[in-house]
Amino acid sequence: MHPDISSVLISEEQLRVRVKELAAQISADYQGKHPLFVCILKGAVVFFSDLFRAMKIDCTCDFLGACSYGADTCSSGRVDLYKDVTEQIKGRDVIVVEDIYDTGITLDFVKTHLQSKQPASLSVCVLLDKPARRKPGIDVRPEYVGFTIDPYFVVGYGLDCDQEYRHLPYIGIKK
Ligand code: 5GP
Ligand code: MG
Repeated sequence: MHPDISSVLISEEQLRVRVKELAAQISADYQGKHPLFVCILKGAVVFFSDLFRAMKIDCTCDFLGACSYGADTCSSGRVDLYKDVTEQIKGRDVIVVEDIYDTGITLDFVKTHLQSKQPASLSVCVLLDKPARRKPGIDVRPEYVGFTIDPYFVVGYGLDCDQEYRHLPYIGIKK
């Protein structure tokens, strides 16, 4: 285990199994459709690449750069959209893929932003949900949730702390 990690919260094996389940569920729900995944950079990239490869139906992808965290471990409360999607959203069945539903500020912003481009449908898939951290008034209700966790600050499997630890194959609690 990495020396900066105090414990593994979700193992490589647990991630592998759950991500496959999510892909199977999304594939079944979107049978006969051709969804467009929108992966939120950078935290969701590792999760997205495993989810996307496990999909059983034809689908496409795009990337949106949004961040609400600075170099700190606490949400800045405002979202910076530094890269917009390039695919046409209008009329598409869009599935937003995000790493964590924490305060919900990022997902709330992203949903409103994509909704303004008039997709045929819009759903949200998050790897982790931290319900204890929700900002009052925010109610995104992701259609797909990998794991619900206690309000730890976690890293690995795409999640960073000051850009480090994204490469770790598990989700761990930082010391
Ligand atoms: P929200 O806008 O819901 O507060 O925060 C969502 C974003 O904050 C996520 O995309 C993620 O980048 C970051 N975030 C929230 N909780 C954690 C955490 O426990 N660990 C890490 N590394 N990032 C987090
Ligand atoms: Mg993020």
